[in-house]
Amino acid sequence: MKPGNHYLELINKIKAYQPEAPVEIVERAYAVAEEAHRGQLRKSGEEYIIHPLGVANILADLQLDCVTITAALLHDVAEDTSVTLEQLQSMFGKEVVMLVDGVTKLSRITYKSKQEQQLENYIKMFLAMARDIRVIMIKLADRLHNMRTLKHMAPHKQREKAEETLEIFAPLANRLGIYRVKWELEDLSFRYLEPEAYYELVEQVRQKRGERDHILQNAARELSERLREVGIRSELQWRAKHLYSIWRKMQRDRKELGEIYDISAIRLVVDNVKDCYGALGIVHTLWRPIPGRFKDYIA
Ligand code: MN
Repeated sequence: MKPGNHYLELINKIKAYQPEAPVEIVERAYAVAEEAHRGQLRKSGEEYIIHPLGVANILADLQLDCVTITAALLHDVAEDTSVTLEQLQSMFGKEVVMLVDGVTKLSRITYKSKQEQQLENYIKMFLAMARDIRVIMIKLADRLHNMRTLKHMAPHKQREKAEETLEIFAPLANRLGIYRVKWELEDLSFRYLEPEAYYELVEQVRQKRGERDHILQNAARELSERLREVGIRSELQWRAKHLYSIWRKMQRDRKELGEIYDISAIRLVVDNVKDCYGALGIVHTLWRPIPGRFKDYIA
């Protein structure tokens, strides 16, 4: 895809969740970043601007505000081009520059130690250094886009980045509750750190999930009918366990995929605790629990 198309995609996304968004500032940021990075190429051979646009698109998927998206488009400008922070400030104001500067400062931290205690310290340092949470959001989106395009890097770099992502960035996303980003970071890291296990699991899960999703679909239909009959308002959601989490469970409990029961699951959301137990009662009249496998997470 051409940069212009990624840009249009970005604007359309923002307008979908915030129709009145001041996209004018995003438009100016794209123009400035595009010009500043012109002539620079990524390892893939694509124009560099593809990267900031990718980062901005990830943040738009998370429905962030226009200031954050503007800073995302500009996040590598001060570091990698002749445009200075002062110039950016006169064009985009203090808030945008504070975010860009915050991201640059985080990028300067180097990770050396692999000891658990040290890792925890890095995560704490990240959270402390980025006084504005949006700085970390941009940094996470930056890492996610780099992980998505990691195949263009040399193998030793791939390992290094994947390890760092698994040890620092995925836990950081988890700490902030941005699970979608956490899962993708983990699965991408897993793919580069354990390629054989990863691709084997992809294939196994593809087969298994087909069978199980069919059973769960019928179960979900039955369950929502019964809940409606007894007047419990509910919302059913699907949850597919991501690959890294399946693999870790297999490793930890020394299990085969066939012994892992929750590679896909139904999540039932109701209004209050009383309905929670009411719904559980319905579930138990429809299906018998497997002995020893029922856990009361409600209590
Ligand atoms: Mn970047």
